[in-house]
Amino acid sequence: MIVAKFGGSSLANATQFQKVRDIILADSGRTLIVPSAPGKRFDEDEKVTDLLYRCHREHEEGISFLPTFERICQRYLDIASGLQLTLNLQRHFDEIRQQIASGASADYCASRGEYLNGLLLAEYLACDFLDAAEVILFDNEGIFDAEKTNVRLKKTLENHKKVVIPGFYGSSNDGSIRVFSRGGSDITGAIVARAAQADLYENWTDVSGFFMADPRIVHNPKPISHITYHEMHELCSAGATVLHEDCVFPVSCAGIPTNIRNTNFPVHPGTMITCTAIQREDFAIFAGVAGKKGFSLLVLEKETPERSWAFVQGVLEGAKSCGLPFQYLPSGVNCACLLVESKQLFRFVDDFKEEMEKLETPHLLEIENEIAGIVLVGYGIVHNRETVNRIYEILRRQEIDVVMINQGGGELSTWVGVPEDKMEMAIRAIYEEFV
Ligand code: ASP
Repeated sequence: MIVAKFGGSSLANATQFQKVRDIILADSGRTLIVPSAPGKRFDEDEKVTDLLYRCHREHEEGISFLPTFERICQRYLDIASGLQLTLNLQRHFDEIRQQIASGASADYCASRGEYLNGLLLAEYLACDFLDAAEVILFDNEGIFDAEKTNVRLKKTLENHKKVVIPGFYGSSNDGSIRVFSRGGSDITGAIVARAAQADLYENWTDVSGFFMADPRIVHNPKPISHITYHEMHELCSAGATVLHEDCVFPVSCAGIPTNIRNTNFPVHPGTMITCTAIQREDFAIFAGVAGKKGFSLLVLEKETPERSWAFVQGVLEGAKSCGLPFQYLPSGVNCACLLVESKQLFRFVDDFKEEMEKLETPHLLEIENEIAGIVLVGYGIVHNRETVNRIYEILRRQEIDVVMINQGGGELSTWVGVPEDKMEMAIRAIYEEFV
């Protein structure tokens, strides 16, 4: 049994719907289908979800949302007429328009993109439609309730042979609609795969899987045919974007592999993401490299020869009591550094400084901004002592300063901080060295 999730570009118009149907008919195992809302048809186009959020904003600001709403309706009407579907869309449009006009929440508005697309896709594929509001459950604070959902969904799925479940949304106890963060249909797909104990979670998008580096930075990077969930999570945390980060857990904990596939090039096997690296032979050291700008390094250096652990403890307590989230904590005998996303730092820096003033140990606090984090991911890295030396050497040759380096305790990644304006150059050099 396969769960097939289709992203917005895979369902952006009638032609894309046809490709999706061909894919589904090509394998009778594809019985659980999770669609996104229609995405962009061309570069300057707008996603239906963006238009729905705009309707909500316009209504709140007292501007008429009707012109934007008309554009949304037209997107669905075009798909329906292109596929000769008979669903009474007008009835749904009227209901949604009324809800927006009477002040429906942003989550409700956004969710209608997937809802309507799900209805159309279910008719087109001649299968059942299951409203995600009935089976994807949130608590009243809007926190997703994984266990309750799993029980409800499992039971409900027993009643369906072939079913479309719209992605991205669910509902709270009080019946109000809630959505995941943007790109959240990936999460729905993973949740459905877990509940159905599927053999495979297919995530159909507009690229043929992951590349070993961002193609906007490295010319023609090698595709990744196989990667583990851990490696992928590390790459995503440093900027690689194909899958929503939060969709990993439901499938990885259930031991279900994920296959990233391209709706526009369905013969390509894409990238297979699995729990272990056992089957992998094609790259020994290194699975991929990714980079992300916008980090700051807080450097705290103590000025007296006291025990370093007590100082690091004090710094961490200070970070905890003001809620400062940090990515890495490299520390030394006399210093502790926190790598923090700059946008988070701006929010917390004054409180953090106040906390540090309470420390008994005299110290200096310096902040370095405009740092890019580059992560090299792969199980081979830790078994290959040369890796870190090679990174230093490559970056030295390119005259790129290394602001920090962190050999991850998790043993499958190495993190290097470089000046932001050198990130692309550093990624290219690292890629060329290792691949
Ligand atoms: N339609 C939503 C978005 O644009 C969710 C998704 O596509 O996964 O973020």
